[in-house]
Amino acid sequence: VSNNNKKMVKEITSMDVDFAQWYTDIVKKADLAAYSNVKGFMIIRPYGYAMWELMQGALDKMFKDLGHENICMPMLIPESLLNKEKEHVEGFAPEVAWVTFGGSEKLEERFCIRPTSETLFCDHFKDVVHSWRDLPLLYNQWVSVVRWEKTTRPFLRTREFLWQEGHTLHATKEEAETETIQMLETYAKFCKDYLAIPVVQGRKTDKEKFAGAEATYTIEALMHDGKALQSGTSHYFGDGFSRAFDVTFADKENKLSYPHQTSWGCTTRLIGAVIMTHGDDNGLVIPPHIAPTQVMIVPVAQHKPGVLEKAEEVLNTLKGCCRVKMDASDNSPGWKFAEYEMKGVPIRLELGPRDIENGVCILSRRDTAEKITVELEKLPEIIPALLQEIHENLYNRALERRISMTYTATNMEELKEIAATKPGFIRAMWCGEEECELKLKEEADISSRCMPFEDQEQVSETCVCCGKPAKKLVYWGKAY
Ligand SMILES: [Zn+2]
Repeated sequence: VSNNNKKMVKEITSMDVDFAQWYTDIVKKADLAAYSNVKGFMIIRPYGYAMWELMQGALDKMFKDLGHENICMPMLIPESLLNKEKEHVEGFAPEVAWVTFGGSEKLEERFCIRPTSETLFCDHFKDVVHSWRDLPLLYNQWVSVVRWEKTTRPFLRTREFLWQEGHTLHATKEEAETETIQMLETYAKFCKDYLAIPVVQGRKTDKEKFAGAEATYTIEALMHDGKALQSGTSHYFGDGFSRAFDVTFADKENKLSYPHQTSWGCTTRLIGAVIMTHGDDNGLVIPPHIAPTQVMIVPVAQHKPGVLEKAEEVLNTLKGCCRVKMDASDNSPGWKFAEYEMKGVPIRLELGPRDIENGVCILSRRDTAEKITVELEKLPEIIPALLQEIHENLYNRALERRISMTYTATNMEELKEIAATKPGFIRAMWCGEEECELKLKEEADISSRCMPFEDQEQVSETCVCCGKPAKKLVYWGKAY
């Protein structure tokens, strides 16, 4: 390890010392995002954006394979339109940004910048849906939205963020409910297969559900510091929005009906989830499937004859099997090692004069720091297999950590003790009353994350808070 290497590493705060500062350091040093002139609005730098594009590409394909089509709605919502669904407007009003001028002219009606687009979609649906033949209508859009948050953090909570929002209409309640769960499962699969993040799938309590929804489902991930991150949500709306916006269709008996609706979304927040799930004190660790660069070639003693030529040959060979780059800059190998460690590149490939003589190179894994010597000829088959192995190792590591940080409480005393001393999920029974959720927030500073689909074990007969008969097992925790 060179001096340069040590110096680079020192620039990141250790996660055990100050997790929030560690996170900010990584965002900055790995060059994922930068602050802008407007508070709470961030610049997503090319490296961060490349991660997002890979995530977006994978999700977009999953959506389209399930029959969804992309559409793009306007950015502005007239106030009168926003006001049509009461619960919805009440939920979003406190964090809406308004456009009041067009050029120098004060507008007669002000427009809000979309915080989400249910109202726009519904207003459009009423013009395009007429008969049962028009259903199901499966739309998605990739846009940015604005929510005027008070406290902001890059990726985790920003006033503008990139996301996708799916909006679908169905003839029946059953179809819409199936779609809601199907999209939640799609998110969970994406997190597992691309982000190497294990999630808990479940239903939100009424207190935590989306404004205007009948049911909200969520995927919850556990970060390194034991806090939960809501990583995607899927909502079943019933026909409430359809009624508010007068969206109707003639069913097979030619009777006018209200379609049932869903919406589902996930955001650039997932980049924050990746940082806080896999990162370590040396920087970012990117799961291979969303790594902009999967293999970084670092030539060693590159001034020696033949080294760069051979490195370039390896680069060209590998282009067909992975996202590969070479750093032939003047920086020292030690600097380069630290830099790509910081940037979380899954595999570093070192190639020096002696290696070339022996027909080998050294592969260094970002996840385990393990080094292996590999014959150059075998690289095209070894690299893809190793990338998959790294992916699986990251997933298993995160899953083991989550399991080891999940606790069970059967009474208030136990629960408070765990909440105060052990970061992680707490499994505890609940009576179904919002009052108990509020009390747990007040006394233990935890919120209900979800009522999980799996793991619905009766861990006690009574609600952990009030002692009344328990209805559901809830995962509780501190959350981002
Ligand atoms: Zn209770």
